[in-house]
Amino acid sequence: MTIINSVLGPLETSKMGTTLMHEHILGSSIGIPQNYPEILDRGYMRKIVEKLKEAKAGGIDTVVDATTLDLGRDVNVLAEASRRSGVNIICCTGWWTEKTRFLSGVSIDRLAKGFVREITEGIAGTGIKAGILKGASDKAGVLPEEETILRAVARAHHETGVPIMLHSYSPGQVGRRQLAILKEEGVRLNRVKMDHSNDTTDLEYLTWMLEEGCYLGMDRYPGEGASPPARTRTLKALIDAGYKDRLCVSHDWSLARHVTSDSPIGSPAKRKKLNPHDYLYIKNVVFPMLREMGVSEELINTILVDAPRNFFEEA
Ligand SMILES: [Zn+2]
Repeated sequence: MTIINSVLGPLETSKMGTTLMHEHILGSSIGIPQNYPEILDRGYMRKIVEKLKEAKAGGIDTVVDATTLDLGRDVNVLAEASRRSGVNIICCTGWWTEKTRFLSGVSIDRLAKGFVREITEGIAGTGIKAGILKGASDKAGVLPEEETILRAVARAHHETGVPIMLHSYSPGQVGRRQLAILKEEGVRLNRVKMDHSNDTTDLEYLTWMLEEGCYLGMDRYPGEGASPPARTRTLKALIDAGYKDRLCVSHDWSLARHVTSDSPIGSPAKRKKLNPHDYLYIKNVVFPMLREMGVSEELINTILVDAPRNFFEEA
């Protein structure tokens, strides 16, 4: 058993239960929830609590919120959402891909210090501590600021023992460079989860990362690009290859966000059509697919429990 930070305080890993390892309860941009809440979904707190209660009633116990500062992280919202819904929430420190100007000059160790403080003392004076570190790169590969952040994430990991999740672009195999940097920093890859791995169906690449020791975030459902059935076939192939204990299935889904008129998946109507189940999409849509593909009931019952717990309990 390990004790991790949830937004309401220490949480034993044995109490995590059914866990979604990469979600965004409220997704926006830096400073928006605190300064311009009128840009967000109206009544977003009520909506979030309602949807989390539905998830809880459907058997979801814990959610890892992958919302960094640059994605509009507001840990007060997360704490209130957890308190009112009964869902455990783990929040993160680190950075996504949105660079602010100041990042171009900041040193790795200074940045690491900030991440460490958010894990050991708390975030923005709230005393709410991060339970996971996050680094990110996308289509352009690992950009210079992202390398600085990633190395800072690695150093904060060494100091705190808190594991690392990585936003990545798997169709471009960007994880190869991210893992190389973490290795240079001396990070053991069993403490690393490569997210958005089900954006590709390239089993050779995914197997390579698993053989390097990584966990994989099979965490975009319904996702874009690869279809949900294609994502599920990839998941099944990796289960059959013996990696079930290191596959973290999740949605990468926001319960509330910026109100946008019609960006690709932005409009509320489009999002509702894409995923009417919110955090129960996996249970309602993916599990039946797995069942049809012949995955055992026992594995279906434990896949959202065992891999997340293993990830936090790795030493
Ligand atoms: Zn995400």
